[in-house]
Amino acid sequence: MAPLTETLKINTEFMEIPGTALKVSRVAIGTWAIGGWMWGGTDTAESVATIRSALEHGINLVDTAPVYGFGRSEEIVGKAIAEGRLRADVVIATKAGLQWDGGKVSRNASRSRIMQEVEDSLRRLRTDYIDIYQVHWPDPLVEIEETAEVMHELFKQGKIRAVGVSNFSTLQMERFRRVAPLHVLQPPYNLFERGIEADLLPYSRKNDIAILGYGALCRGLLSGRMKPDTVFSGDDLRRSDPKFIEPRFAQYVAAVQKLDRLAQQRFGKRVIHLAVRWMLDQGITTALWGARHPEQLQPVDELIGWSIDASAKAEIDRILQENVVDPIGPEFMAPPSRGAAAYSRK
Ligand code: NAP
Repeated sequence: MAPLTETLKINTEFMEIPGTALKVSRVAIGTWAIGGWMWGGTDTAESVATIRSALEHGINLVDTAPVYGFGRSEEIVGKAIAEGRLRADVVIATKAGLQWDGGKVSRNASRSRIMQEVEDSLRRLRTDYIDIYQVHWPDPLVEIEETAEVMHELFKQGKIRAVGVSNFSTLQMERFRRVAPLHVLQPPYNLFERGIEADLLPYSRKNDIAILGYGALCRGLLSGRMKPDTVFSGDDLRRSDPKFIEPRFAQYVAAVQKLDRLAQQRFGKRVIHLAVRWMLDQGITTALWGARHPEQLQPVDELIGWSIDASAKAEIDRILQENVVDPIGPEFMAPPSRGAAAYSRK
């Protein structure tokens, strides 16, 4: 068998994160669903196998967060990496700034919370450094400068190798950058959720900030698996995701069917490949692809060696405009600040 580093080079494109020594694959595995919470449960052995298979498909970046399954996702990522002796081959991205109490989540990006969280994450991940540490959501009750200062301190101590923020606006990033270096932005981005194109994408490019776009498959909508009668069970967030509720669900599913036909006719691919290739061709660093079964990552192998030309991009835009007449963004996912009605899906 070829050594892992050799396999990685063959299967995937890589990009450097400016201002750091990190080189990341252009597709990352996202492990929110692996935590189980808001995704109808999880299976540890299957999850470990999925993370291992990500590496076999050339992925070297694993994104997790303490809140995903309230520690469970980080623990599973830590187990997969430690037991496979893979630490040197993997770039671990995790987050801080959300707290939970009996399953109710709210924002807390205070100094004391982040100092506690970093130690908890290191323990769960079974490592002594985090490659990319991201503030999960801006906290309106804590000055951005306080959050930036503590992130800078962790960076200077070597506990984290890159500083990131997620779900921040350009103005919030500006304030952050007056206090600390900022290497990574993790915003929502996919064919159906393109809000960052107005400002965050050009801002990050201009300032050499890597973009890890989350929700590459729009929570599975862009996989091509969804049918008008697909139903979700348990605490699956798609039961309350406005894109998965009529009348919008039928519009999005119709758009996916047309995008799938376009992918087949123009590129000999399927909609899942088109959606992720499109993201990469828009100039972001990495697409975060959520998976919890090893076979879900099979399509990653078909992303390299082609790109989406201007006329196909125009055709994609036309399909979206004609079919999704009532578009909606990912705002439903935003957790509340402390004291507001907490976000709970038990
Ligand atoms: P996503 O990538 O848009 O979709 C993931 C879901 O798509 C999977 O759980 C699976 O659903 C389905 N899927 C994946 N591969 C498939 C395949 N080959 N065929 C059919 N279905 C497939 O979703 P996401 O998990 O929301 O986003 C990706 C990652 O971004 C997260 O895991 C997390 O790391 C990150 N994220 C960050 C934030 C933030 O605030 N920073 C927010 C959201 C996500 P089923 O298993 O149910 O079929």
